[in-house]
Amino acid sequence: MASIATPIVIVGSGLAGYTVAREFRRQDKDTPLVIVSRDGAGFYSKPMLSNALAGNKTAATLVMKPAEKMASELNATIKARTSVLHVDTAAKNVALDNGEVLPYRDLVLALGADPIRLPLEGDATAQVLSVNDLDDYARFAERLDAAKTVAILGAGLIGCEFANDLLARGIKPVLIDLADRPLPRLLPEGASARFRSLLEAAGVRFHFGVVASRVDGFDGGVKVLLSNGHVVEADLVLSAIGLRPRTDIARNAGLAVNRGVVVNRLLSSSSAQVYAVGDCAEVEGHTLPFVMPLMQQARALASTLAGTLTPVVYPAMPVVVKTPACPTVVCPPPLTASGSWTNELSEDGCVSHFSAEDGTLLGFAVMGTATSQKQALAARMAALLA
Ligand SMILES: Cc1cc2nc3c(=O)[nH]c(=O)nc-3n(C[C@H](O)[C@H](O)[C@H](O)COP(=O)(O)OP(=O)(O)OC[C@H]3O[C@@H](n4cnc5c(N)ncnc54)[C@H](O)[C@@H]3O)c2cc1C
Repeated sequence: MASIATPIVIVGSGLAGYTVAREFRRQDKDTPLVIVSRDGAGFYSKPMLSNALAGNKTAATLVMKPAEKMASELNATIKARTSVLHVDTAAKNVALDNGEVLPYRDLVLALGADPIRLPLEGDATAQVLSVNDLDDYARFAERLDAAKTVAILGAGLIGCEFANDLLARGIKPVLIDLADRPLPRLLPEGASARFRSLLEAAGVRFHFGVVASRVDGFDGGVKVLLSNGHVVEADLVLSAIGLRPRTDIARNAGLAVNRGVVVNRLLSSSSAQVYAVGDCAEVEGHTLPFVMPLMQQARALASTLAGTLTPVVYPAMPVVVKTPACPTVVCPPPLTASGSWTNELSEDGCVSHFSAEDGTLLGFAVMGTATSQKQALAARMAALLA
């Protein structure tokens, strides 16, 4: 009797986990594949969470394929609503919360990232929501039915996108940020000012240079106390101040962890046959919580798992900011890059270049009609990992 091969185990059913599975199946139809996910394992596109209101989407209609359909398409066993508790790299197995111990040939950690929470005081801090998956979105959408004003902590990409999306439901968003302008890490000052004025014109209110310190219940809603003493009254508070890669499982298993799970360009961790992809991974020092990098990683890792060692390549990877009030595409320079910004503002657009002293283009931001230049500009930039 032929023995059953030990499976490849993927932990996580987000875009990273499912893209590895799909790309792997293109090259290998037979090796057993098990996907373990603590959520419902329905396939959905996470970026849609922050423009779902405009599209009248519910948590249910955001699911493009349920777990059962994914299992049959991928010829995989999918264990939904099941958590991995522990990885034993010596024995090459994972312990699940249902008591099962699952051996692996190769283990792919596609664990995602956790929303960072501000240390808030007050009697309504438990009501502060974050939206980082479908279950979160379902809770958020349910609370919006009776909401007129939503306070959003964080005026970064995700906070600004939710603010713009709430306008589609006639809800007033109030953005609160310690920085002095929106998207401070992605846009130079001139572009940021334009972004702010277009969002304000659409109905978004901003409080900059302050943090929220308390959230207390008040008249069916909440009062958010800011560090300058100002109080924002809202029906709901959404926290969008950033994400932290999920690394506990890797750290407890003795894998090298820095900001994310440390992997090389083969997506291989410090332990043989254990890989990491997506928001939980730190690839050669880069943690890039966006879709394009995880697609590049997933394709490379699938080939490696199918037998052809393939290092990941990162071309310049622009990110679309989904704010219809001010269509924007950014390709931020690497954190360590030295250079300066130039801005060209016009009636209907804005082009910002971040260039090194010798003129090499290291990053850009484009707005309005200038977003059509994104591909041409990306093509001029050097690859992040060639
Ligand atoms: C609102 C929002 C809007 C965004 N918009 C954009 C955009 O416009 N463009 C862009 O490029 N990027 C965008 N992003 C970022 C992008 O969506 C993410 O980078 C990407 O979806 C991350 O995928 P992932 O598979 O790494 O993580 P996730 O999708 O978070 O998946 C992690 C998986 O791991 C599972 N898991 C975690 N721990 C365990 C455990 N112990 N046991 C079992 N399972 C576990 C979870 O259940 C989940 O299935 C956005 C993000 C958000 C939140």
